[in-house]
Amino acid sequence: MKINIFKDNFVENIYSEQKLANHTWFGVGGNAEFLFIPEEEKSLEKFLKVKPNDCKVFTIGAGSNLLVRDNGIDGVTLITSKLNKISIDKDGIITANSGSIDAEVARFARDHCRSGLEFLIGIPGTIGGGIKMNSGAFGSEFKDVLIDVKAINHHGEYKIFSNEDLKMEYRKIGLEDEWIFLSARFKTSTDSEKNIRDKMKNIILSRKSAQPIGVKTGGSTFKNPVGKKAWQLIDQAGCRGWKNGDAMISEKHCNFIVNLKNAKAHQIEELGQNVKQKVFENSGISLHWEIERVGNR
Ligand SMILES: Cc1cc2nc3c(=O)[nH]c(=O)nc-3n(C[C@H](O)[C@H](O)[C@H](O)COP(=O)(O)OP(=O)(O)OC[C@H]3O[C@@H](n4cnc5c(N)ncnc54)[C@H](O)[C@@H]3O)c2cc1C
Repeated sequence: MKINIFKDNFVENIYSEQKLANHTWFGVGGNAEFLFIPEEEKSLEKFLKVKPNDCKVFTIGAGSNLLVRDNGIDGVTLITSKLNKISIDKDGIITANSGSIDAEVARFARDHCRSGLEFLIGIPGTIGGGIKMNSGAFGSEFKDVLIDVKAINHHGEYKIFSNEDLKMEYRKIGLEDEWIFLSARFKTSTDSEKNIRDKMKNIILSRKSAQPIGVKTGGSTFKNPVGKKAWQLIDQAGCRGWKNGDAMISEKHCNFIVNLKNAKAHQIEELGQNVKQKVFENSGISLHWEIERVGNR
């Protein structure tokens, strides 16, 4: 595929062979064959309408739940970072574009004395990634606050999905991958700025005490099996501190894999697979990846 297909159709902000390590929290991953960073919804629509049918599209928000493999991603990788407007209406409904950073949305709600979105302060992703993962923390998840989401499919057709349409469950939703989220509406309630600020402070403090901060990681590596904690199973299996090159099971939170410096994606993935194997041998429980592994090995 040639980049001219897009340039000839006036699709801007599209680049070939771009390093995806710069767009993921792990700081690893090969190149995107094409990288597209639309400035607005309309340019994304135009791109989807002119792209060849066989051109694959993969969306990245903040890349905080992704392990992009060393040989990169074919087709177009779409980055939503510039789709980041947030607004509020007279009923306190907050609308955020999919590329808005969760913490920005939490702060926006706080500044308007609206409660319910405090948990977003601790999730380092975007609204789009949060909906896709039904992300959550401290007793709340996207499912609890989402009203509906506007999306576009790979042919450039728009649709609104209600919360119920998405069939949100623990860290997954029941919607085909062809839908790209554009913006979402959230319900909130009134509270004082001080109460909201205090709740957010507590969340930040709890995170600092329980998780490695300021490191290259993908957050929780595995989902919690029903009635169990993945970190406990990993700890009991003796994997805390395990290393593979510069990839390491965090000493502080052993469901986190950390890239100490120059780990490769395959070293992170191998380390995760080894832990999974060891946990199975030790407990008979099969862990499932929460981090999404994408791209070519
Ligand atoms: C330090 C750390 C702490 C974390 N803590 C938590 C936590 O407490 N709770 C929790 O649930 N998660 C946590 N995570 C994981 C991660 O932050 C969440 O899953 C987050 O919601 C992912 O958002 P993202 O924008 O980074 O998505 P990405 O990692 O960029 O993408 C994740 C998935 O969402 C899809 N996606 C992204 N944007 C869109 C869009 N606009 N439309 C359609 N699909 C889209 C991607 O294609 C991919 O399938 C943590 C991660 C880190 C690094």
